Amino acid sequence: MLDGKIVITCACTGAETTKEQNPALPISPEEVQTAAYEAREAGAAILHLHVRTPEGKPTADPARFKEVIDAVRRKTDIIIEITTGGAVGDSAEERLKPLVALEPEMASLDCGTVNFGNEYIVNDLPTMRAFAAEFKARKVRATLECFDVGHVYASRILIKEGLLEAPYHYGLVLNVPAALPWSPRNLQAMLDALPEGADFTVMGIGRSHVPSMYGAIASGGWIRVGFEDNVYYSKGVLAKSNAELVERAARLAREAQLTPATPDEVRKYLKLRG
Ligand code: ZN
Repeated sequence: MLDGKIVITCACTGAETTKEQNPALPISPEEVQTAAYEAREAGAAILHLHVRTPEGKPTADPARFKEVIDAVRRKTDIIIEITTGGAVGDSAEERLKPLVALEPEMASLDCGTVNFGNEYIVNDLPTMRAFAAEFKARKVRATLECFDVGHVYASRILIKEGLLEAPYHYGLVLNVPAALPWSPRNLQAMLDALPEGADFTVMGIGRSHVPSMYGAIASGGWIRVGFEDNVYYSKGVLAKSNAELVERAARLAREAQLTPATPDEVRKYLKLRG
């Protein structure tokens, strides 16, 4: 355990959020650079990264990832976790390209097929095995994203088959429309299914943003905030920036006597390549 600490991830952009939903959404390399810097200053240790074309469309182009990552790197030491979930409709091959090309410190690994509102994202077991093997070969630490209780069990198959290496870090995603809703009981069901000693970050979508943070803190977990998951600060009030959401997360954690961990503390704890 990272005693007395909490790890805050900022998912600053995502694949689906638009500037129409929140004009402060960071899209250009400069905007993401600023968002990453401000999030780090506010207490985030990890930046969860999707990138967009100049027109704002989600892309898995490794060159665009590199451009944005280089910009972030010039400004802050925040850990960069890239997505391999991609955007709705991306093929598995496309989603894996940036990881193979850039070998980041961390990346997300989706652990099952899930409804995404009217759409869906396909992750069958053979796809997950292929992804996990690339993570292992390149020593990229996976955040095992689970959108349902069954996904946690699916991840355990990968562990049993020796395709993942400890320490295990989970991203428990609650409240995606048409997937598992946020509730303390649903979170607990996921926690009950985790391998012993695994760390977990709770990701509450939309209006579950704040209650799920309390759930994370109460359960000894970590927190993810950011425009990928939620663009509001409170009901009807848009967040001014990703940093504003990180600041609140850090404040709630401090009230619970937890200090936001620094990127280097997390690098050491999760045994990242650095
Ligand atoms: Zn994501």
